[in-house]
Amino acid sequence: MPASLLEVFLDHAHREPARPLLSFEGKRYTRGQLADAVTAFARGLKMRGLAAGERVALFLENSDAFVVTWLGVQAAGCVAVLVNTAYRQVELAHILSDAEVKVCVTGISGASELGPLREQLPSLQWLITVEPPPPGLPASLPTVAFDAIVAQGSASSVDLPLPRAEDLAVLGYTSGTTGRSKGAMLQHRQLLANVRAVTEAWRWTDADRLLLTLPLFHTHGLMVGLHGTLFTGASVDLRRRFVASEALTALHDDASLTLFFGVPTMYGRLLEESRRTGVTPRPLRLWVSGSAPLSPQLCGDIEARFGARILERYGMTETLMNTTQPYDGERRPGTVGMPFPGQEARVVDVRSRQPLPRGETGEIEVRGPHVFTGYWRRPDATQESFDADGWFRTGDLGEWDPDGFLRITGRARELIISGGFNIYPREVEEVLTQHPAVAEAAVLGLPDPDFGEQVVAVIVPHPGVPTDAQALVDWCRERLAAFKKPRRVIFTDALPRNALGKVQKHTLKERLAASQDTPAAT
Ligand code: ATP
Ligand code: MG
Repeated sequence: MPASLLEVFLDHAHREPARPLLSFEGKRYTRGQLADAVTAFARGLKMRGLAAGERVALFLENSDAFVVTWLGVQAAGCVAVLVNTAYRQVELAHILSDAEVKVCVTGISGASELGPLREQLPSLQWLITVEPPPPGLPASLPTVAFDAIVAQGSASSVDLPLPRAEDLAVLGYTSGTTGRSKGAMLQHRQLLANVRAVTEAWRWTDADRLLLTLPLFHTHGLMVGLHGTLFTGASVDLRRRFVASEALTALHDDASLTLFFGVPTMYGRLLEESRRTGVTPRPLRLWVSGSAPLSPQLCGDIEARFGARILERYGMTETLMNTTQPYDGERRPGTVGMPFPGQEARVVDVRSRQPLPRGETGEIEVRGPHVFTGYWRRPDATQESFDADGWFRTGDLGEWDPDGFLRITGRARELIISGGFNIYPREVEEVLTQHPAVAEAAVLGLPDPDFGEQVVAVIVPHPGVPTDAQALVDWCRERLAAFKKPRRVIFTDALPRNALGKVQKHTLKERLAASQDTPAAT
């Protein structure tokens, strides 16, 4: 039995070295070529003194070098730390010091971002840059070129013992949607269990080809998209980032593509682009959405235009994949389907922690071989998150529908309690986004002297469709219980979102709390 995905990949590369695997910006790799690059990079790291278990950060845009680094770090027995490329000094300092990262693999802009942090990051010893550093780069940290590490490793035959199932593979820092991001410790066995379940549930085959535009620093792109490709005999067309026009062109022109994975914002942009240009994608075997709620409206619009119903899945850094819509049979918009094979999920009462019957809302808990080991150096947070039977408290709220499909109703931390009533922001957001003048809506609770919290709606209006706060409050009052209607409506140009398109409500709350006399309040 293989102990890691790395082992599965290397073994496959040995058996079928000529099988195409990866294309990126005109470069192409077969399995054998990628395995050679991975082995060389791992040897290069070891020759420079990196020891098993030491942390190597990837602060990198999608590229072939990302893939080589990701697998090479594992082959060297080190632990990979994934860093969102949108992060700047405050977030970088937090993650790199928390993980005590020794080496960071990055590009030119990453290197200049890290230079000034040298004092704050005593563990960081050197950088590997995937592009040649320009002459003016502040030489505050010793820097080696990625290609030099590969070249050095190619000439070496240093031993590379395969990782064991229990070895730590990665510190996956959560997206920081609800606060400071924490490092989820994931072992090789968990990555392997996850990719097995994902490929089985979605029937991956050697004939699959994935268009991958999601960032590889996040679980969705990496541990679903790339890993599925590495585990099976499939291939991947990797893009540096998502650009709607380019993705649509590829989906229209390339008949070999069979899979596309995205977040709801990407689907929204693809749809807009398709309407604007009249171009529609060819039929694919599977469209997947996850990471944030896919509105039934968008799901329906995509189905009408692209001729396929998106398969929505639900997962998180700590647990990898939790649930999926069925591959065969009905896919139910507004729900995230049923537990992945081998994974258990339940909905419990937030106080008694007892499982709830279908139709009642509570916190979602999961258990299974994909669930992480704990938060890096945060025994407090780890202990709070698991019960004695190993159930992980996801912090998400949900309910089973009558047929056992899971509906996510929001995050426990974002639940609004006003006058003793529970209000789920997502329910109010869905009503608001059905209004023709509303492009986007975020609903949150702000302190209220009488009711504990009051419901506040922050709205991004559609340009050119006139509306006002009162009209939106009335719209909600006609469709929801009166206690759920917004007490204040605030118009804005854009919502603060992270790289995955998730609305950062804590940022929004801080901003609103700081500006007492916000205009357009009702
Ligand atoms: P943090 O834990 O740091 O606050 P985060 O929870 O956003 O950030 P991730 O692990 O990247 O970090 O995201 C997982 C979360 O994304 C889930 O817990 C859930 O709230 C949300 N999510 C994922 N998929 C879906 C989905 N299909 N529908 C609704 N929400 C989803
Ligand atoms: Mg989370």
